[in-house]
Amino acid sequence: MSATSPAQMHAISDETRGTVDDVLDYARRRALYQDVPLDKPMTPRDLARLASGSITAGGIGARRAIALFENVLAPACLSTDHPGYLSFIPSAPSKAALAFDVVVSASAVYGGSWMEGAGAVFAENEVLHWLAAEFGMPEGSGGVFVQGGTIGNLSALVTARDAARRRSREAGRPDPARWIVVCSAEAHSSIASAAAVMDVDVATAPVDAGGRLRGDAVARVLDDLGDAVFAVVATAGTTNFGIVDDIASVGVEANAREVWFHVDGAYGLAAMLVESARPAFAGVELADSAIVDPHKWLFAPFDACALIYREPALALSAHTQKAEYLDTLTDKPDWNPSDLAVQLTRRARGLPLWFSLATHGTEQYRATIAYGIDLARRIADEIESRDGLSLVRDPQLSVVVFRREGWSAADYAAWSDRLLDEQHAFVVPSSHAGEPVLRFAIVSPLTTFELLTGILDTLA
Ligand SMILES: *Cc1c(COP(=O)(O)O)cnc(C)c1O
Repeated sequence: MSATSPAQMHAISDETRGTVDDVLDYARRRALYQDVPLDKPMTPRDLARLASGSITAGGIGARRAIALFENVLAPACLSTDHPGYLSFIPSAPSKAALAFDVVVSASAVYGGSWMEGAGAVFAENEVLHWLAAEFGMPEGSGGVFVQGGTIGNLSALVTARDAARRRSREAGRPDPARWIVVCSAEAHSSIASAAAVMDVDVATAPVDAGGRLRGDAVARVLDDLGDAVFAVVATAGTTNFGIVDDIASVGVEANAREVWFHVDGAYGLAAMLVESARPAFAGVELADSAIVDPHKWLFAPFDACALIYREPALALSAHTQKAEYLDTLTDKPDWNPSDLAVQLTRRARGLPLWFSLATHGTEQYRATIAYGIDLARRIADEIESRDGLSLVRDPQLSVVVFRREGWSAADYAAWSDRLLDEQHAFVVPSSHAGEPVLRFAIVSPLTTFELLTGILDTLA
């Protein structure tokens, strides 16, 4: 295993061919597991005992490294695509999408510029334009796949502030002492995180009894804060409950004051692809920017967020990096995805979704998302019908939050640990208004009603 020539790792040889075969064999096996093991984390101590020492001067060889991964490291990672993984937001990549992710790696595509990645960028744009049309955003909308919703929200808000600064300069106004983004108290933590990175303030508008942000509440905050507000964020499906804000009324108020309107649909906006769920998302067409995460409910592997702008030119002006070595790219009118977000080098991470969509067609996507909404409804009814269990709130999308009467936080925690220890399911306790609760987040079409009732049975 000693380095005999600088090209040893790159040359086509029996050794490298064997390595590629072994790795792809493992990837193939994992992708086609009949029953994905749920697995569970290990302590640092146990992992140190079982898995240290892999980095050596001469290398341990591919066989041993793969064996270490397959037998020790991978089982110490939860399988987020397990049908009983119901915490946070699970992942459920289609076979086509996850297999194509391997192709993205094998192809060494630079997805940041048209000059380097035209074909990949074109295919990603096909998907982004399809999503924009589904969301009712106008022709000319466009965007980029970034790492996740956090970066998507940050990038959109940076664009929003840039646009607000330009407008206030053009109007001859001084910048406010502090820029402010308005959202609801139920907005995702990434909005506060973006605000901290940008050194701007967050003002929260109160939600109605249903947990939804509405235009009248936003209007009061906007009238109060005036020109200091550079963006309003509505959530299209909160992570905790799947609540969709009253996007239309919020959008109308933001539009009326020419304040940037951003829709955070990282989890829930995928449901807009389902005809029966579509009315809940009315108003997304008013957005200046919107995000949805393919790695959540669009059946793509980690990690991808589709960030779409109504006027991509505004994003270019906020995000394009200027450097002498980049002039040859930025001096052209090409579509360069790098210039639309906080990033430069980028993986063509939209391609797995493109390939799966191209393979299966959009109807399959609508049906698979609809399954999750329907299953949430069915299990919610089941919960209501069982003694000792009750819903915290009626599910709107595919998140079901419920309680087991008489249990303390410690009871929930012990139950959740047992469920994972027995490799039955991964359901971590959550809390709402100080009350410990349980939560099923459903995205996988392999999650069945029977699997969920089996979990409910353990709560008796
Ligand atoms: C998950 C989520 C995010 C953050 O997305 P990441 O991909 O985890 O960075 C933002 N907003 C909402 C509503 C989410 O559900």
